[in-house]
Amino acid sequence: MLLLKSQTKLTGKVIFRGDPGYEAARKNWDPHTDRFPKVFVFAQRTQDVANAIKWARENRIPIRARSGRHALETNLSQVNGGIVVDVSDMKKIKLDKKNGTVIVETGNRVGRIAKSLAAQGFIAPFGDSPTVGIGGITLGGGIGPLQRTIGLISDNLIELEMVDANGKVIIANHKQNADLLWASRGGGGGNFGICTRYKFKVRRAPAKATVYKVTWPWDQFEQVLKAWQRWAPSVDTRLGSELNIGPKKGGNVTMEGLFLGSTEEAIRLLSPITSIGTPTEKTIRLLPYPQVVNFLLAPDPVLTQRYSNQFSSGFAKCPFPNKAIKSMREFLEKAEANSTAGFFFLNWGGAVSRVSPKATAFYWRKVKFYVEWNSSWIKPSDAAKNITLTRNTRRKLQPFIVGSYINVPDQGIKNSGPVYYGSNFSRLRKVKAKYDPNNVFNNPQSIPPA
Ligand SMILES: Cc1cc2nc3c(=O)[nH]c(=O)nc-3n(C[C@H](O)[C@H](O)[C@H](O)COP(=O)(O)OP(=O)(O)OC[C@H]3O[C@@H](n4cnc5c(N)ncnc54)[C@H](O)[C@@H]3O)c2cc1C
Repeated sequence: MLLLKSQTKLTGKVIFRGDPGYEAARKNWDPHTDRFPKVFVFAQRTQDVANAIKWARENRIPIRARSGRHALETNLSQVNGGIVVDVSDMKKIKLDKKNGTVIVETGNRVGRIAKSLAAQGFIAPFGDSPTVGIGGITLGGGIGPLQRTIGLISDNLIELEMVDANGKVIIANHKQNADLLWASRGGGGGNFGICTRYKFKVRRAPAKATVYKVTWPWDQFEQVLKAWQRWAPSVDTRLGSELNIGPKKGGNVTMEGLFLGSTEEAIRLLSPITSIGTPTEKTIRLLPYPQVVNFLLAPDPVLTQRYSNQFSSGFAKCPFPNKAIKSMREFLEKAEANSTAGFFFLNWGGAVSRVSPKATAFYWRKVKFYVEWNSSWIKPSDAAKNITLTRNTRRKLQPFIVGSYINVPDQGIKNSGPVYYGSNFSRLRKVKAKYDPNNVFNNPQSIPPA
């Protein structure tokens, strides 16, 4: 084991390069983001995080926080030669039914929280993958099919525990360090310190809800999208809708989501879309709420995920015109056959849009829908052309989108601060200067101190 000079000792489960377990430790969801850090610290408690930060500073080693390993760009949750402070062994969940709150340690994955709460009769927002870490997703915002009813994941965050650059434990809520709470609701991971605990507001779940999934052949994507983008943003806000369009070769079009109401009403609300084209599969089912969560969070294992990806994202204030759809088609025709590449849309409105853009760090609220697209590849030699494909498509779509989602970042975006944060960027820089003036927590897309 490599011994470095320092006063502080690393505690928790410590894995240096060359130790058993190192290869598994450096496997992120996206292989393109795997790096060769000097050491991984799997913290078992908050003090292990504090020790790791102090040790890293004594040894002048770059620090990366990691929770669920789902970072979608490089050098965010791993860095060559650095220390990765991984909180994924910290997984306590404590529901307070009386006060309608839950305290979760940041090592939990979204699916574990949503399923544990659903089993106890409570509803919590989630996205489209059960294995995304609550650690990272919350800080960037946290979007998903329930956001129109109960807001973003971060809209429900009411308190956090964070270890700062000096190894000091800080609590942020509406009464103390309220600026840090504001910044942590959409400002993005890896900026201010390492979070170890979140407290969320929760609500009673309905006993049952309706889920749906509709599939069309790929060549009907234009018709479906044109109808979806006019319908989805204004449909009843109890209805969340995700539209996926895969690559031309081997892909199809799927729309899935949930409606917090009866199947009869769901069938009626969905009819402007289900009547389009010739769906090859149509499922609309009323399920007990815990099964709703299982339906929408299909397994997504981290260690066996083989595709590397380049994502890019944005928000739209108007439906995509034909010119934008033509650029989408060009992308989908060039994307790798049978891969996980494609376009993803999610409807906005309701609770997410009722909050003022300045009320939390998450700025992009007054839009119609969210859009992201990703190229995918397996062979490292295919990386460059696929990264270029995604970024060229961004240039073509730029006239039709605003902003970008910090949790689905694209490091090809120049001067990205205002793109991710709109006019909240300058306030975020001030909060950064207060909590991390020496920019100890920095990565290729982090917020520079004011
Ligand atoms: C398959 C897949 C599906 C996704 N679906 C959705 C979705 O439906 N909705 C959505 O909103 N997003 C979604 N995302 C994006 C996701 O929110 C981001 O990738 C998020 O950053 C992942 O967090 P993590 O903890 O899993 O990742 P990590 O790789 O562990 O970390 C990501 C970033 O957050 C920082 N971070 C992590 N933990 C902490 C911590 N405890 N304290 C401080 N900083 C921390 C890291 O340093 C890094 O910058 C998805 C991503 C993937 C790969």
